Amino acid sequence: MISPVMPTYARADLAFDKGEGVYLHATDGKRYLDFGGGVAVTGLGHCHPHLIKALTGQAGRLWHCSNLYQIPEQTRLAERLVAASFADSVFFTNSGAEAVETSIKMARKFHDSQGHPERYRVVTCEGAFHGRSLATIAAGGQEKHLAGFGPVVDGFDQVAFGNLNEMRAAIGPETAAILVEPIQGEGGIRPMSLDYLKGLREIADEFGVLLMFDEVQCGIGRTAKLFAHEWAGIEPDVLAAAKALGGGFPLGACLAKEAPAAALTPGSHGSTFGGNPLAMAVGNAVLDVVLADGFLDRVDAMARRLWTRLEELIAAHPEVFAEVTGAGLMVGLKCVPENAAVVGKLAEGGLLTVAAGNNVVRLVPPLIIEDSHVDEALAIMEKACAELAAGN
Ligand SMILES: *Cc1c(COP(=O)(O)O)cnc(C)c1O
Repeated sequence: MISPVMPTYARADLAFDKGEGVYLHATDGKRYLDFGGGVAVTGLGHCHPHLIKALTGQAGRLWHCSNLYQIPEQTRLAERLVAASFADSVFFTNSGAEAVETSIKMARKFHDSQGHPERYRVVTCEGAFHGRSLATIAAGGQEKHLAGFGPVVDGFDQVAFGNLNEMRAAIGPETAAILVEPIQGEGGIRPMSLDYLKGLREIADEFGVLLMFDEVQCGIGRTAKLFAHEWAGIEPDVLAAAKALGGGFPLGACLAKEAPAAALTPGSHGSTFGGNPLAMAVGNAVLDVVLADGFLDRVDAMARRLWTRLEELIAAHPEVFAEVTGAGLMVGLKCVPENAAVVGKLAEGGLLTVAAGNNVVRLVPPLIIEDSHVDEALAIMEKACAELAAGN
């Protein structure tokens, strides 16, 4: 008989009833160091006091009124995102997929408004993940996500990862935009080189197509910049954010330059819940912390410490880990044994991680980790490596 909850996930047999900073407490009484962060969502850890205050304060005032009216906290969050980024305007959603879907719709509408409705296609990279809606699975182009859900939404072309020649060759008279994750998340923590990102900007300018970044996973301080593309010193035209933007409250955003944003005229796009007062209160509280002086510098320092320790670990255990990839606190460990076995072994030792594509174990800890958490994680990993090598 089917479970009352639809069986769409392969869940571990673990449940939690309390979160506290970098730790999760399971219902069986065991405490876990959470380096999975609910898949890069709890960027400020669990139950951050400043977020609790913002959420509960707002909960006592107003939950929802709809986008039929002005929402001052929404205006404030948009203004702050605009001030802190390349963007001129922001549309709020409840999830990453919706933020990417908004980006795709915007690309089509922008070219339509320029008199080029034939420009509707979006070029993406092999290994991509952009969400689970019909359009975003087509954008991701992964057979495992598309199988059985045909016909595939039209309008997406995919090229090899990191190959500028292929990207250039894929742009045609029907191309509206390039859409990539500056660091692929689900695909296996694969960073695009900064030269590649700069090259994409040049190609987009040369052919008059939009450059769109999916920073749903790599954004909001994860790489020690607010957005990962900042490391390349270039700006996209459109960007999708979500995950850590709400710190665990469902919140996404599509940020854009004025020209593409202006194409989404009144009535052309919308969301019932997107940008509601609860989400906006939490989003503003997240930015209070992430944009505070010195916060991203601390992320950078902590990331360097973690990378140094991980490089030592893989040098000591080549039978378990082949390489470390990623940037900042978005880290992938390419495994020699099956990654699921490594994730399981680490969980046994009290460290939560997340599997990703390319046989990678993903570490996306809260950005608030301290030296002691890095030490604790490495001790658990050391022990797990020894046990895996010994065949238990
Ligand atoms: C998680 C993710 C998405 C989808 O976000 P949802 O909130 O699950 O819809 C899209 N793009 C990237 C890069 C992601 O990591």
